[in-house]
Amino acid sequence: MIAGPLALVAAIALGTAGVDGALAIPLRHLYLVPAAWAALRWGSSAAGLVGLVAGLFQGLQVFPMIEREGLAPATFDALVALAAPLVLGIALGRLVDQAGERGARLTALLGTLEARLDRAVTLVGAALGADRAGLVLRAGDGTLAVAGSMAFGAAFRKDSAAGRALETGAAILAVNLDADPRLGVKAVRGPTPSRGLVLPLETGAGRVGVLAIERAGDLGPAACRSAREMALHLGLAIDNAQLELKQRRFAQELEDKVEQATRRLREIDEAKSEFLSVVSHELRTPLTALQGFSELLLERVVPPDQARRYLGHVRTEAQRLGRIVTDLLDLSRIEAGRPLELRPERVDLGELVERNVDLFASQHPRHRIEGQIAEGLGAVSADRDAVDRMLKNLMSNAVKYSPRGGRVRVAAAVAGDRPDTMELTVEDDGVGIPAEDLPRIFDRYVRIAHPETKAASGLGLGLHVVRSLAEALGGAVEVESLPGKGSRFRLLLPAA
Ligand code: ADP
Repeated sequence: MIAGPLALVAAIALGTAGVDGALAIPLRHLYLVPAAWAALRWGSSAAGLVGLVAGLFQGLQVFPMIEREGLAPATFDALVALAAPLVLGIALGRLVDQAGERGARLTALLGTLEARLDRAVTLVGAALGADRAGLVLRAGDGTLAVAGSMAFGAAFRKDSAAGRALETGAAILAVNLDADPRLGVKAVRGPTPSRGLVLPLETGAGRVGVLAIERAGDLGPAACRSAREMALHLGLAIDNAQLELKQRRFAQELEDKVEQATRRLREIDEAKSEFLSVVSHELRTPLTALQGFSELLLERVVPPDQARRYLGHVRTEAQRLGRIVTDLLDLSRIEAGRPLELRPERVDLGELVERNVDLFASQHPRHRIEGQIAEGLGAVSADRDAVDRMLKNLMSNAVKYSPRGGRVRVAAAVAGDRPDTMELTVEDDGVGIPAEDLPRIFDRYVRIAHPETKAASGLGLGLHVVRSLAEALGGAVEVESLPGKGSRFRLLLPAA
């Protein structure tokens, strides 16, 4: 059955037999075509076979080449081209297999139910000697399905016998279907008046439909009794079929959920590995600097002003290490749902701003760090250490994301738009943040790529921690930013 792809493999082998040199490798990739053909048409086994044959043909050229040239880049490329049809063919084939299995399961499910209903209604009609027999079933969402020899389909009407029985749940016996005053549907069926019997089908879950039979001539009490019994059995059978359907649907849903959960776990695992590698890198950078400068100071005689400079670097790196560790500790508390350890007290924002402005100004000579404290500013009710950490986070971001230097303005004032609230603003004229990224910068591990700040270190945790701390203190944090112009972060805290 896979003669086509195999013939194509042979044709490619013949066509590429004499080709050598730079053109050989691209031509060998042609073997992917029959492998993909087999995968799409017949699934993984066929693709595996075609891939294998393609590999064998290529082997005839590649193995002598390896003997001649050893494992050079060109022979390595040839080996990759040799394995590609087999590997990619099987991978694609497996996807096709999976899709096929699903399709088959669904067809089996729907197909068997319809066929079974049709067969059941034909048998019932024959057993009762009816001219026509039909089933009308109502699905959970109100849609109707019709089975059997009665042409209810498009002609199904609410004022027909079946429609009325479906509506009211009462059995209907019409002595003359064409002249029954209860029914709106009138059609002359033949010289003999047609009897009609419509019986509701009851299941454990209530009424699911009706069984309708029609016969020209008499429909005696024995036939009516048999019809009632059959309606009872049909109801039970439908009940069973629905249960089976439900079970299968449930099994399918369960399978999907397990698949989703497995996928999610795999993603989390990958994210964890990525996180660990970023954290190790972030910790290693300041550690390497600390190690380097301390060794220099211990092992060499360094002039005092140079030693002071080195010690300044040691302090900056130690502070950076401290910030990373504090952020990680805060994050682990937030993740575990443990409350952040906060002790609200009266905190003088003015004093906090002044101290941090002095600190940052001494450490970042390329930036102009300015503080502005509103006159007569009161205190906020917050945890001093937490406010200090939030301010340091915002200020170090302002410096970090203004790589060309520039002004960083820190201000403390009463929030004009909110009663009983104080605001701390940190404004820079750095690279700014695109509007579409603004909503996610407070999410954890989010870092916005910018060519000028590629080298800036960070875990994408600082703002997440700032927001969590601000909210835990009954406050909030807001941001405004214009790419290329700068950013303004606003920390809101309840007044004391
Ligand atoms: P980190 O600085 O460790 O990457 P943060 O959570 O502090 O993590 O910040 C998240 C991202 O938001 C940063 O990577 C950066 O892209 C952006 N960002 C934060 N502050 C600023 C700022 N002042 N100017 C421009 N971008 C900023």
